[in-house]
Amino acid sequence: MKKRAQRNKKRIRWASVLTVFVLLIGIIAIAFAGVHLLSPKTNTSPKSSQTSSQEKAKSTASSSASQPKETKWLAGTNENQLPILMFHYVTSRADQLPQDSNNINIVTFENELKALKEKGYTTVSGSDAEKILTTKEKPSDKMVWLTFDDGSVTMYTEIFPLLKKYNMHATNFIITGYVNKGQGGILTWEQIKEMKASGLVDFGSHTVSHPDLGKLTLEAQRTELEQSKADLDKNLEQKTDIICYPAGGYNQNTLNLANELGYKFGLLDPGRNGAIAIAAKESDGLLTLPRFRMMSSTTTEQMLQMIQPSTDYNEKNK
Ligand SMILES: [Zn+2]
Repeated sequence: MKKRAQRNKKRIRWASVLTVFVLLIGIIAIAFAGVHLLSPKTNTSPKSSQTSSQEKAKSTASSSASQPKETKWLAGTNENQLPILMFHYVTSRADQLPQDSNNINIVTFENELKALKEKGYTTVSGSDAEKILTTKEKPSDKMVWLTFDDGSVTMYTEIFPLLKKYNMHATNFIITGYVNKGQGGILTWEQIKEMKASGLVDFGSHTVSHPDLGKLTLEAQRTELEQSKADLDKNLEQKTDIICYPAGGYNQNTLNLANELGYKFGLLDPGRNGAIAIAAKESDGLLTLPRFRMMSSTTTEQMLQMIQPSTDYNEKNK
């Protein structure tokens, strides 16, 4: 009896060891299957592969948005022609301000930007313009340089938001004495710096006090050209090399001084001092670059007609 009981006990012990073993195998098998189910194989289902390709597309888009696509410049065989448009102020309060042909309504202005965008025009920066005017390379056959005179506060309040909206470039010419004395209706250095940091707006000189340089003595001209450049260089940490002559006024002294003081490019006013409205090109002199005047009455069609001849020329200049 005792022996049988002992044998039975042994059997039960073996049975429980076997049960535990089988259970362990089971647990291991389940665990293995679980790991296997969570393995990357699940990504082959159509839904997840779609998600991953969507994510991939999204990450590509954001990387190209943070790093502007590098424009491949085209090479021509002859000098380029660059149409330069001359603007002053843009306002949404035209009715509240004195009637001025330089005061363009914001709706008109936005339509002009839209038309340039729709027609495929590239708006160049100041440094792009310099390269276009001194080499045979160009970012596009369809290009235009938007320039704004006087450093009006509307550059910040009206024009800058639209440049951001359409991702377009412009150059603004600053009367440094007006900024320094905090004149009403004129940009502050803070606003100028903010716009420069955006990469959409760059800045050149429009002298210290906006005189007709052609009527000043040599020394007075020197002060206007030298001090405004020094102020812009210091405040914007740049080497200002574009001068826009106030009211298009200049004489031979102006050109000599500009050259001596480090200006490489000078912009005229169409219709002033014998300047005509045509596209700019290197052979006409980099310190006497002509522009087209944009007025409150200028229509979008007229603007496109102004720049068409240089586009036709650039398209043939391969
Ligand atoms: Zn001016």
